[in-house]
Amino acid sequence: MAARRRILTGDRPTGPLHIGHYVGSLSNRVQLQDAYECFFIVADVHTLTTRPEKHHLDALHDNIRQVVLDYLAVGIDPERSTIFVQSAIPETFELNTLLGMLVTVPRLERVPTVKEMAQHEHLDALPFGLLGYPVLQAADILLPRADLVPVGKDNESHLEVTREICRRFNKLYGPIFPEPGTLLGDVPSLLGTDGQAKMSKSLDNTIYLADDTATVQRRVMGMYTDPKRVRADIPGTVEGNPVFQYHDAFNPDAAEVADLKDRYRRGAVGDVEVKRKLARALNAFLEPIRERRAAYAADPERIEAIIDAGNAHMRRQAQETMAQVRAAMGLKFAAAAGALAGA
Ligand code: ATP
Ligand code: MG
Repeated sequence: MAARRRILTGDRPTGPLHIGHYVGSLSNRVQLQDAYECFFIVADVHTLTTRPEKHHLDALHDNIRQVVLDYLAVGIDPERSTIFVQSAIPETFELNTLLGMLVTVPRLERVPTVKEMAQHEHLDALPFGLLGYPVLQAADILLPRADLVPVGKDNESHLEVTREICRRFNKLYGPIFPEPGTLLGDVPSLLGTDGQAKMSKSLDNTIYLADDTATVQRRVMGMYTDPKRVRADIPGTVEGNPVFQYHDAFNPDAAEVADLKDRYRRGAVGDVEVKRKLARALNAFLEPIRERRAAYAADPERIEAIIDAGNAHMRRQAQETMAQVRAAMGLKFAAAAGALAGA
């Protein structure tokens, strides 16, 4: 049987995952588990690019567990897919250093999200590591020699950098890495409940996969909608309205959604009805996810075992790749050291 093509993608463990992650990337991961050999990274080193302080590090282990629980809850199957933690793979640091030689500072300064992250964290100047965020991501992707990367829209510019580095490496040293493609989710950028920006862990505009029924109800009833509609009989705008973006993404009753949109446009439905129906649809979508999450959460040793097994499997892939990289570059001493370390 021909080797399956590979996927690598993942998340920073800055907190639990939300419904934006689901439509942006998780849903594709769950669907492609058989068609591809999948590697899912919990990118803890990437959190250090904006949050290196000790108190953030103290929260890392719990956050990693939360992200892994979310993966398992949405249906990522550890028997079929590899879940691993970035910092457990030291080859990542070696490849990161080598790849950093193949990209310029002005190129990295043009990546829009890097500047946004710095502004967001109120950093006056760009830390070296944050500027290198897309290079570290390239190392994550190239290490398992991934062919495809399912991500949300904000990550498109990072993958451009990965492909440029990949092409340059292959041109200089020989064809070691496949050039990875981007796979955007059904909703590449889900708006936050505030309707002002994309849903993000770092803004208070989220609905988490782990939120309970009452929280979802409360978050939905407080959502931003068309501000012109001070009364239910004023015609409203559906396009760009987060309530309808969520209906399209999570309400499987297409006839109900079409009817709500039609009445909203005519000024023949109140916001309360639109939101109540959305809360019901979202809670129906989240219920099986909550149940699976609770079952896994009750067995912490199993979670640790899943992570340990994933780390060990990814480590073997990383050692194989680095043996090829060192040989292709002609780094004899690195190759000898790698062989000693068990590669
Ligand atoms: P942070 O605020 O810490 O950056 P985040 O919510 O933006 O967190 P990331 O860990 O940066 O999450 O992103 C993980 C993956 O989820 C990426 O592929 C990203 O593109 C995708 N993603 C994040 N937020 C959304 C969203 N609102 N809609 C669609 N995809 C998203
Ligand atoms: Mg982000």
